[in-house]
Amino acid sequence: MNRHESYPLTLSLVVPVFNEEESISLFIDQVRLVLERISDIKYELVFVNDGSRDGTLATLLEHQAQDACIRVVDLSRNFGKEQALSAGLQMARGDVVIPIDVDLQDPPELIEPMIAKWREGFDVVLARRVDRSSDSWGKRFFANSFYRWHNKITDVSIPENVGDFRLMDRAVVDALNLFPESKRFMKGLFAWVGFRTVEIDYIRAPRSAGESKFNGWKLWNFALEGITSFSTVPLRIWTYIGASVAMLSMVYALNIVLRVIFMGVDTPGYASVFVAVTFLGGVQLIGIGVIGEYLGRTYIETKRRPVYLIRKIYEAKTENGSERRRGS
Ligand code: UDP
Ligand code: MG
Repeated sequence: MNRHESYPLTLSLVVPVFNEEESISLFIDQVRLVLERISDIKYELVFVNDGSRDGTLATLLEHQAQDACIRVVDLSRNFGKEQALSAGLQMARGDVVIPIDVDLQDPPELIEPMIAKWREGFDVVLARRVDRSSDSWGKRFFANSFYRWHNKITDVSIPENVGDFRLMDRAVVDALNLFPESKRFMKGLFAWVGFRTVEIDYIRAPRSAGESKFNGWKLWNFALEGITSFSTVPLRIWTYIGASVAMLSMVYALNIVLRVIFMGVDTPGYASVFVAVTFLGGVQLIGIGVIGEYLGRTYIETKRRPVYLIRKIYEAKTENGSERRRGS
């Protein structure tokens, strides 16, 4: 049978959490409120505790004792959001899977329209932020430039203003679970797999509690990660830059020779030599840096280390546990 027509539908929400003890209760309440209203679904909440150092795990387990829909995957340390998401996607059992942030910046109210789109036959339903005024000016500017440049130099374009919040069909999740790479830029991987995709719009709210876990430096590295994992343009561009610089120096050399022939010996030019040497030195160092970046990732990938390690999986105690029937 076509999965898009299956009733009741099983939904997995995948929630990576890192030091989020203040946000969890509010999140669970809100989500439950929304999900109770949707008819004909069973659901599970897969929390991935990404090495939190506060009471996050304890809070999750308290909630699990009350609610059999909650599953908790405890990672052995903080691996980062991308890795935590990968762990959650591996664990999720639903026909459709939605990764969602615990800080309620991804509005749970969107789940119902997303499911409606999925019922229409789409495999991926993206939630596009039409208004990011809850993010700082710097973050918005940085994000916009990133998408523009990333999409110019890579083959798979990432849709702009789309985060990890999206609905994915089981087939898409199975495809993502096949990726062996240990450096994971999920936004890129999500775009790479393709499938029938549709967008719906929403307005991004400010964080419900706590602080953003991504500072400027982390975001910068994240952007580099995105570009270097999906494009070899930064490597190839050095051939062209090198060739142009070499051509220019040939022209300049020719100019010097002609001047010596027609106008006699020039006064020795300390400045031009100094400039040429330092400029070329700089260009070479950048080139080596870029090669190093790619060599570095080749090195990491060849080690084939696991993407994340699980310390323990906590399943709800109740017999018919995590897939309690809803709305029927
Ligand atoms: N997160 C995580 N591991 C990390 C950093 C963040 O699992 O190393 C989770 C975090 O708990 C939250 C989600 O990723 O559920 C988004 O993080 P945050 O709200 O800090 O990011 P922002 O919304 O500022 O981009
Ligand atoms: Mg957030």
